Amino acid sequence: MAKQNNLHCSFCGRSRDEVKILIAGQEGHICENCVEHAEEIIAQELTAKNNPAGTGGSGTVQVRKPKEIKQFLDEYVIGQDEAKKILCVAVYNHYKRVNNKQIVDDVEIEKSNIIMVGETGTGKTLLAKSIARLLNVPFAIVDATVFTEAGYVGEDVESMLTRLLQNCNYDVTAAEKGIVYVDEIDKIARKGDNPSITRDVSGEGVQQGLLKMLEGTEVLVPPQGGRKHPEQKMIKVDTKNILFICGGAFDGIDKVIARRINTNAIGFSVNKDEQEHQRSNLLEFINAQDLKSFGLIPELLGRLPVVTHLNPLDAETLRSILTEPKNSLIKQFTRLFEMEGIALTIEPAVLDFMVAKAMEYKLGARGLRSICESILTEAMFELPGTNATTLNVTLDYAEKMFSKSKLSALKVA
Ligand code: ADP
Repeated sequence: MAKQNNLHCSFCGRSRDEVKILIAGQEGHICENCVEHAEEIIAQELTAKNNPAGTGGSGTVQVRKPKEIKQFLDEYVIGQDEAKKILCVAVYNHYKRVNNKQIVDDVEIEKSNIIMVGETGTGKTLLAKSIARLLNVPFAIVDATVFTEAGYVGEDVESMLTRLLQNCNYDVTAAEKGIVYVDEIDKIARKGDNPSITRDVSGEGVQQGLLKMLEGTEVLVPPQGGRKHPEQKMIKVDTKNILFICGGAFDGIDKVIARRINTNAIGFSVNKDEQEHQRSNLLEFINAQDLKSFGLIPELLGRLPVVTHLNPLDAETLRSILTEPKNSLIKQFTRLFEMEGIALTIEPAVLDFMVAKAMEYKLGARGLRSICESILTEAMFELPGTNATTLNVTLDYAEKMFSKSKLSALKVA
């Protein structure tokens, strides 16, 4: 048997006194350095296996044709046809460019980051999220309002990439082909159309920070997010192939568009339905100029070449949202009851009632879930454990449950 001081690592050959720990196996030894190295290899292999679509390692993203992307989106997002088409083409072109980077050195194809304008709850996040899911690329949702200019209290813009890295287990190669959805981009608009003389901590400064990321650069990302500090080890991420999709409600932009196209801004003489109609019509004409007037800096707009809009949701669309998407609310609740052995049926009048309440209380699509819950919670509490096998929700029942809920106490603005 070998003497104690002749022992060495069977993997790297280091002797006993060159290492801190030497673990004995049946026929050999392994040192702490080789254990660490092996762990890294295992992590890399597992990440590559978990990303079959090719985002792990150096693989390519399996890009779908624009029509295929749209078909997929149609399963989850109701309406918004124009935004869908524009998004599909932009995403298709983006990943075509990413996958073919070697052969396009004569004509450089620029990145097509996207900006979506539309009221809150109209499906902007849902669209971005669905695309990332289809393409199986890392995805992160970040809120522009949490960022502040470097040196001020708040988060650095770089930390948005932390979110992306966290969502793909710190696989940098995968993250570099991911999608970041920047919500509330309108909230970092600078106040007024003129460059400010005083410092605009949360507005223009953040736009400047964002600009670098959008145009493609190597960014040092704090692995745990928050503020950068010197002793923290940073991860280098190249943003040149990351697709940024920005979204915002841009309240009041309809008036900016109206002014530009020289039509009358929405007046008080028209009724509410007409106002909604006019607003959605005006959004159709939105362009970068309007966004500049709203307070986005031209350099940033230059990096967001694809501009599209989402329409406000009318009653008919809300009604479809309840039942049509692949994972629609009604399908989800039906499945929950099914798991209890209860067949749930909901009378059509109840669906109309839910939509009417969502409109009346201005809750939008997001509110549909709370309305469903306010009507069904009682049954979900009472029925499990009983012999019930069916639940038919009638209009009477729905009205009674809704009036008992906290929601009904909401005052209509
Ligand atoms: P936004 O980002 O525009 O504020 P979201 O995409 O987060 O809105 O939408 C909120 C929720 O409302 C979504 O999770 C989804 O359930 C529902 N929703 C909104 N718009 C649609 C739509 N067009 N089709 C299907 N569901 C929608």
